[in-house]
Amino acid sequence: MGRGSVNVAHLVAEAEARGAMFSIRGDRVHVSASKPLPVKLFEALKRRRDDVMEIVAAMPLLDAEGLPCAACIACGGRLFWKAGSLPPEGPGWHCFRCHPPKPGSWHHACSVPVTDEDELRRDLFEERAAILEHDGGLSRARAEALALEDTARILGLSLDAGRRLIDGV
Ligand SMILES: [Zn+2]
Repeated sequence: MGRGSVNVAHLVAEAEARGAMFSIRGDRVHVSASKPLPVKLFEALKRRRDDVMEIVAAMPLLDAEGLPCAACIACGGRLFWKAGSLPPEGPGWHCFRCHPPKPGSWHHACSVPVTDEDELRRDLFEERAAILEHDGGLSRARAEALALEDTARILGLSLDAGRRLIDGV
């Protein structure tokens, strides 16, 4: 992920701070806003629509109170932020690790505790590693390396994200 997409995250946050809501409909990003966005901001977002899509797709799941309730699907990170001018509840949360806020900007922060689901994922890894080691006759290190690849594939994560999830970082 290049430096450019970090700036796009800031553009998205700026639009959100102005009341815009982003969502994905099919293969497009949909923006709704109570009042029109400044033309320059809107055009900048349009020019970087692929990056915007990636950012919107990585927005965390929210609980009934509108706070993040699951780890980042892209990196497994548990810390999220949103523009400080927005209420803490509701959409607008972004992953600190994938799309950090503008340095010095005012923002809310929310961290998500480890959930049962994360434990299930780790169990999946442990089980796979044990099978490979005992039934497959592999060394522990080799079994863990292969189990990580399998687990990441099953969960649709990158290897790095899978590793972080399993390490519980
Ligand atoms: Zn992330």
